[in-house]
Amino acid sequence: MKICMIGTGYVGLVSGTCFADIGNQVYCVDKDVAKINKLNSGISPIYEPGLDELIKKNFKAKRLYFTSDLKKAITVSDIIFICVGTPNIKGSLKVDLSFVFKCIKEILLFTKKKKIIVTKSTVPVGTGDQIEKIIKKKKKLFSVISNPEFLREGEAIRDFRYPDRIVIGSNNKNEIKIMKKLYSPLINRGAKFFSTTRRGAELIKYAANAFLATKITFINEIANLCEKSEINVQDIALGIGSDTRIGGRFLRPGPAYGGSCFPKDTKGLVSAAEKFKTNLSIVKSVIKSNHDRINLLIKRVHNILGNNLKGKKISVLGVTFKANTDDMRDSTSLKMLPYLSKKGAIISYHDPSGEKKEFKKLINCKFKKNIKENCLNADLIILLTEWDEFKSIDFKKAVKKKNFKIYDLRNIYTREEMKRNKIKYYSIGRPDVN
Ligand code: NAD
Repeated sequence: MKICMIGTGYVGLVSGTCFADIGNQVYCVDKDVAKINKLNSGISPIYEPGLDELIKKNFKAKRLYFTSDLKKAITVSDIIFICVGTPNIKGSLKVDLSFVFKCIKEILLFTKKKKIIVTKSTVPVGTGDQIEKIIKKKKKLFSVISNPEFLREGEAIRDFRYPDRIVIGSNNKNEIKIMKKLYSPLINRGAKFFSTTRRGAELIKYAANAFLATKITFINEIANLCEKSEINVQDIALGIGSDTRIGGRFLRPGPAYGGSCFPKDTKGLVSAAEKFKTNLSIVKSVIKSNHDRINLLIKRVHNILGNNLKGKKISVLGVTFKANTDDMRDSTSLKMLPYLSKKGAIISYHDPSGEKKEFKKLINCKFKKNIKENCLNADLIILLTEWDEFKSIDFKKAVKKKNFKIYDLRNIYTREEMKRNKIKYYSIGRPDVN
């Protein structure tokens, strides 16, 4: 099939490349010309394991094209996927759909033959209906389908190839059949395919993300209780997660959840529900708890350093919102590092995905090219992101100072190891090692 992906970000680039890899002709379009130029010269603009090789392979095979020429891409394609961002409107819970609607208006300008428009972007319930209103005059030329994307950054290629489910929202049997054909290589491998109404598909995505965010927030709050009551939260996670009704995944406590999806989608869901006069009180309290969590972690850093951050050398390991991605959106580091800098700490950080522009203007905050250089002079090491590279550091060798401390926000180190090495160790929801 001939496909156009509008928006060549984490979702559009990965799914476009993977669609090409299963034999389709794919045109990835982006308004960001620099991004398209980079891609055409063989460089991926994002960090995603395995993506570079897959882009090269399909580009060479002439199944994958990168362009800013929307007209050409639309003219040749049968299916147009909308993969542009849907952020929150600044200072509001509402979703900014302007990028989506702008795409629709552009598509209208260039379409003469029948096309299927698919929203892969996460959009609130009723967005498909709104799109239909925009295309009113050319209604016969389009059908609008919802096909939410569930891939996770860092695991995106695997998630595309082996999804838990493929959800299609449409009331038209023929279009569902076309979408099923497109996904048949994945369905034949065992992926569950199911169709529902368009509004149903739109809500599934938000409900899934809100549920996962709730699970994370729940275990984070239980971890707070464990810290006060000298209980190991990992025992609790195992004890409750072994119940098949609950399940063990997403029961790892850590920093506030971040990234490009959970923070904005929980807010977007609350706002969409309000439009339908429905109060989602659980999701509201999840948003509040997650917001408060960052302050709680900062307070803990204060306590660990004896309530005086001035002149203290803090080495941060990992600043992205999770491992195996370069995505900084809503990462805990974005609030924590500026705070520590403001309070006079001397910060260094290392992240395998490279230096971050977000910290360039911070006072006393420097990127270090390797772990050793980053840890050398630390009074406190804060492990923020669970990159594999950080899992087996010999801290006794890496740090020069005698009484350095470690605050492990992902519980990647064992308390036993820290005890053995006589390192002062603080983690999430587990008794301290002093
Ligand atoms: P992104 O910001 O990485 O990419 C969006 C791209 O769209 C950008 O490159 C931008 O330049 C381009 N764009 C915007 N308007 C355009 C236009 N009119 N024409 C052409 N290009 C345009 O976003 P993302 O992380 O890929 O997310 C896209 C959507 O997918 C969002 O709705 C998000 O919620 C959803 N989603 C994201 C993930 C994820 O892990 N990132 C997972 C599932 C779903």
